[in-house]
Amino acid sequence: MDGPSVYKWWHAMWAQVCNLLFPRGCAGCDAPDEVLCAACWALFAQCRERDADSGGGARIWSASIYQGAVRRAILDWKDHDDTELDGPFGRIMVSLLNKTPIPSSCLGHRVLVVPVASSRASMRRRGRAHTAPLAKSVAGALRGYGVDARPCNALSSSTKARSVQQVSSAQRARRITGHVRVKRDLIGNGDAVLLVDDIVTTGATVRQCVQAFQQAGTKVVGVLVLADAVVRRSDDDINGLMTSVTMPQIAGEAPLLGM
Ligand SMILES: [Zn+2]
Repeated sequence: MDGPSVYKWWHAMWAQVCNLLFPRGCAGCDAPDEVLCAACWALFAQCRERDADSGGGARIWSASIYQGAVRRAILDWKDHDDTELDGPFGRIMVSLLNKTPIPSSCLGHRVLVVPVASSRASMRRRGRAHTAPLAKSVAGALRGYGVDARPCNALSSSTKARSVQQVSSAQRARRITGHVRVKRDLIGNGDAVLLVDDIVTTGATVRQCVQAFQQAGTKVVGVLVLADAVVRRSDDDINGLMTSVTMPQIAGEAPLLGM
């Protein structure tokens, strides 16, 4: 076995031992013997669209609001390496994709499903690109629509890692500016990009990524995220996440194809 295979094997073995010693609970609410219980899963069944200016020209859809059990499950996944959530979160992203017009706007393109760039420090801390499994699931679902789609790590970021609670939107925008880079050698002529991420807060990171692709001449067909951390539009302090909010509109019965 090569290095990564050995690591995966030990990781799987260790997970089994932990499951025997400490049976797991739902990542959202601790209900016994569940990775994500039905009640918590249902919280991720929305299709919320951000107002048009949030994505810098690309439409942003989210499956949930970043609060309560949703927040807890996502933090468990990304900061406590709960890799068992890769599967449920991948399926949640596919379900979100199916409620949007994205599949139809992908037809006729080779589509790269690109995780929004994480800083190198975040990647090192987590030991993995935690949103990569989301990109893989979404690309697989697009292929089911007949789209030539593949996951692609086409962005890099040299920003320093801070949690979403620690920085204001203005600070975040300043910090990100100029630090997101498109790996142009991975993109072909006529390719389109679908961005995926775990959480959208102010949209500053997404706008930087969209802008970077636009400068590379690549169309961004949309952005899918697990959760929307709703923020006050003009507020510079996103610590007050859920207190006073500008609610993004909830997308109604978005047609599956044909928009
Ligand atoms: Zn639960």
